[in-house]
Amino acid sequence: MDKQRDFVLRTIEERGVKFVRLWFTDVVGTLKMVAVAPAEVEGAFAEGLGFDGSAIEGFSRAYEADVLAHPDPTTFQILPWRGEVDPTARMFCDITTPDGQPAAADPRHVLKRTLAKAADRGFTFYTHPEIEFYLLKSSKYGPKGPQPVDAAGYFDNVPGGTAHDFRRRAVRMLEDLGISVEFSHHEAGPGQNEIDLRYADALTTADNIMTFRTVVKEVAIEQGVYATFMPKPLAAHPGSGMHTHLSLFEGDTNAFFDPAGQYQLSKIGRQFVAGLLTHAPEITAVTNQFVNSYKRLWTGDEAPSYVTWGHNNRSALVRVPLYKPGKGQSARVEYRGMDSAANPYLAFSLLLAAGLKGIEEGYELPPEAENTVWELTEVERRALGYKPLPSSLDRALGLMEESELVAETLGEQVFNYVLLNKRREWSAYRAQVTPYELESNLEIL
Ligand code: GLN
Ligand code: MG
Ligand code: MG
Repeated sequence: MDKQRDFVLRTIEERGVKFVRLWFTDVVGTLKMVAVAPAEVEGAFAEGLGFDGSAIEGFSRAYEADVLAHPDPTTFQILPWRGEVDPTARMFCDITTPDGQPAAADPRHVLKRTLAKAADRGFTFYTHPEIEFYLLKSSKYGPKGPQPVDAAGYFDNVPGGTAHDFRRRAVRMLEDLGISVEFSHHEAGPGQNEIDLRYADALTTADNIMTFRTVVKEVAIEQGVYATFMPKPLAAHPGSGMHTHLSLFEGDTNAFFDPAGQYQLSKIGRQFVAGLLTHAPEITAVTNQFVNSYKRLWTGDEAPSYVTWGHNNRSALVRVPLYKPGKGQSARVEYRGMDSAANPYLAFSLLLAAGLKGIEEGYELPPEAENTVWELTEVERRALGYKPLPSSLDRALGLMEESELVAETLGEQVFNYVLLNKRREWSAYRAQVTPYELESNLEIL
């Protein structure tokens, strides 16, 4: 630890860093930061940097407003977009109360606590997100809605197009920040793109997702376009999912791999998937946390609406990909429910908790879904036992409220805050009279 701190202090000096940004994330998943002068960093390492947390979404109850940010020296990076003139660096922080206890509402702490539970059972949790987002001409929109930067589709190569240069620049910046990118391509919607981060332990990936969102926004500004992670910005086109590949390791061994298992998935892997499926509806208010998230989940376009698993089934909530021969270490399962606007720390905590519960309780995996689940009738789906994901934020909150797993994993303060905050969103939404209602009702009623 001290060595890493020394390295940071030395690098600040050698590289002439002028500002150090201390980053942390609120309960909703918004990146927050406070910039300090290089001279303050040593003190921040030793004692933490104090600030009033009460104004930050979900952070502090009024009577324990003061919190401390402790920069994590292993996350030190020089930001590639803050210039040659005044080099700027960043570190992620852990938040504590003044007496040094982890702040109950720090999402990074919620994930660390859940990862520690997995570690107690001998597991390390790895994740690999596929992050989709839209590039728009601007954040302003007229009666036709937002204007995407191109009219291209899945895997299209757009000669001279914005998206191409955009991805190249974003990937380069991510690499400069030590974040490896596996691949990137145009997605199915106009202006929609996807960048897939290489797998890493879940805490690193969650930090990387926060960095990713910032990088993408910065590159967009640089290129005069607007990037959005909104789950469903265009009614007529696919939403932006954040499919995430999950695996557990025991030491150096992938615990999901068994050459003799169906799809080479081990018993632990099957139980983990069974845990995901069993608890999916109650964790959806966190993996899909906005009113708008449910517009993505319920309009097809390869977003899952039903709780099923499958091997090569892109309508399934959990997909078990085929591992290349000799690549058992890459055994993993893909959770396709989550969207690009989730708080990655909280969402990963719940996915892990659900999977571990499946292992602990020895849940049985139901038969895989072979059909395109959307093409079945409601009666057929019921006969096959396919439960729906919640159809709205309101329903998702109802299921979350009843969930011991979610309460226990998030802890009381975050659990209560999410419910309160999201109920507020639902009430505001419910009070809207939408253009759809005016269009379909006004003239005939
Ligand atoms: N955009 C789709 C979703 O919302 C996914 C499309 C894909 O990656 N196959 O989940
Ligand atoms: Mg995709
Ligand atoms: Mg995918």
